[in-house]
Amino acid sequence: MELIRIPRIVQDTCRKYLVKGRTLGFVPTMGALHDGHLSLIRRARMENDVTAVSIFVNPLQFSASEDLGRYPRNLDEDTRKIRNLDVDILFVPDENVMYPQGFATRVTVEALSGKLCGRFRPGHFEGVATVVAELLNIVSPTRAYFGQKDFQQSAIIRRMVKDLHFGVEIVVCPTIREHDGLAMSSRNSYMDEAQRQAASALYRCLTRAADAINAGERSPLRIKELMTAVLSSEPQIVQVDYASVYNPETLDEVKRIEGETLLAVAARLGDTRLIDNFIVNV
Ligand code: AMP
Repeated sequence: MELIRIPRIVQDTCRKYLVKGRTLGFVPTMGALHDGHLSLIRRARMENDVTAVSIFVNPLQFSASEDLGRYPRNLDEDTRKIRNLDVDILFVPDENVMYPQGFATRVTVEALSGKLCGRFRPGHFEGVATVVAELLNIVSPTRAYFGQKDFQQSAIIRRMVKDLHFGVEIVVCPTIREHDGLAMSSRNSYMDEAQRQAASALYRCLTRAADAINAGERSPLRIKELMTAVLSSEPQIVQVDYASVYNPETLDEVKRIEGETLLAVAARLGDTRLIDNFIVNV
């Protein structure tokens, strides 16, 4: 595996790998790798001739009040995990390489960025779209892999790639969970024991909602009430940013549940903000 810090060298290396119609699978991450990330890397490895992973904690997607400073970083441990997965290229750029002096471009996916998490994290998805656009242009992968856990992020990237003709296939992979259903996340390590126990309420509220829908419930209001009831039974959950039923394409709340439907939740335990979602199809 080659660990590379300079975009031009990544570009040259990826081009070299891509001769003779070979395919390149790319997994962008912010590091602190867990089994969720590793599942994306395995999938990329399986579906492509060459695999590239990036690790970059992107300051542009954190607001001033968010957790950029304490976001977990462990490059040695991450490198060891990746090495075991037979990754060809590990791209670890510095901040001044991704955002050199004079950097002035922002990518905004207008219709989707202000909804769901966007309402509570202004500027977040602009930061995500901008860095992913840069990374995709540097690596030029055949396919790029994202997790369903960050559903809105994957919807925004799919839209951006389509609108701007990036010519990369976006693959969205299933959410990997802990034993009690909690979606794996680098941020789970922030929680104390009581918060960690309570955190499975996000998964439980989604399961309860999906069960009700599968049993015939079609009222979004009723589903929203069910989700809220599960979340509010946990005193460790100090705030529910949203818990509702959405159209997975437009990310608007739906008036009636039919076809592919997104159930999504964001809640805070102490100062840890967690998100999760299910897609149901009825
Ligand atoms: P992050 O390092 O949090 O930016 O995540 C990098 C990629 O891993 C994103 O595409 C995430 O959606 C994905 N990811 C994070 N957690 C999980 C999980 N529990 N299961 C599947 N994919 C995940």
